[in-house]
Amino acid sequence: EPAIRIRDLAKRYAGVGGEEGKLALKGVSFDVPQGQIFGLLGPNGAGKSTLINILAGLVMKTSGSAEIWGFDIDAHPRNAKRSIGIVPQEIVFDPFFTPFEVLENQAGFYGVPRGERRSADLLEAVRLADKRDAYARTLSGGMKRRLLVAKAMVHSPPILVLDEPTAGVDVELRRQLWELVTRLNREGVTVVLTTHYLEEAEQLCDRIAIINHGELITDKPTRELVGMM
Ligand code: ADP
Ligand code: ADP
Repeated sequence: EPAIRIRDLAKRYAGVGGEEGKLALKGVSFDVPQGQIFGLLGPNGAGKSTLINILAGLVMKTSGSAEIWGFDIDAHPRNAKRSIGIVPQEIVFDPFFTPFEVLENQAGFYGVPRGERRSADLLEAVRLADKRDAYARTLSGGMKRRLLVAKAMVHSPPILVLDEPTAGVDVELRRQLWELVTRLNREGVTVVLTTHYLEEAEQLCDRIAIINHGELITDKPTRELVGMM
């Protein structure tokens, strides 16, 4: 059974002033196999964030289905929340919170019992142990991005979803983030990420789905896809 199963998924945003809203997804179907790094590749406006936000429970689909291990996301939101960690595109931290506090708060939000929290380990894993008690506003962009990944992992979700994790970051940070994602995947986490960089999808992903104008163009193992281009 795939980790995620998407079938005929469509999303029309609400229109303004009697106008028809934007059809951001036009009936998309694909599976994310367990244990893989799955890339959603496409240009700006393709519908990638809409898809991710439906998985995150932040956007309601219009029709079709989105399932995590056989459970419909809308019908079983608690199951979805437990199964998925989301790394959003926007960096949003309280500027006066420390990385340790950010992780402890998130663990509280997920109901992780105190004895089972692993904030220190997570900071270690994203190489922020020495910034444990620094204010978030003093962290570099790269440190904040790594903290976002740690934040998404506090409840040890089996699936990690990243929305454009390396958009606008420099080469060095991109390498760091790739290394982090690869390491988590090797530890057993199924990864879904969006990107508009072909090179990133090729380097990082086991399987690539290309999406454009809300439609799935292709969905293949990276090896096959690269052979075609
Ligand atoms: P991507 O992440 O690939 O750049 P998005 O999913 O953000 O694409 O956007 C797909 C389309 O849906 C775009 O045309 C965008 O303008 C539109 N869209 C995204 N979010 C909203 C929204 N909240 N309301 C209306 N239209 C939206
Ligand atoms: P807010 O109070 O701002 O609406 P929420 O209570 O919805 O925020 O979420 C609290 C935190 O949990 C936020 O950092 C948000 O990004 C994160 N979050 C919300 N839903 C999910 C989800 N399904 N998976 C992972 N993180 C989530």
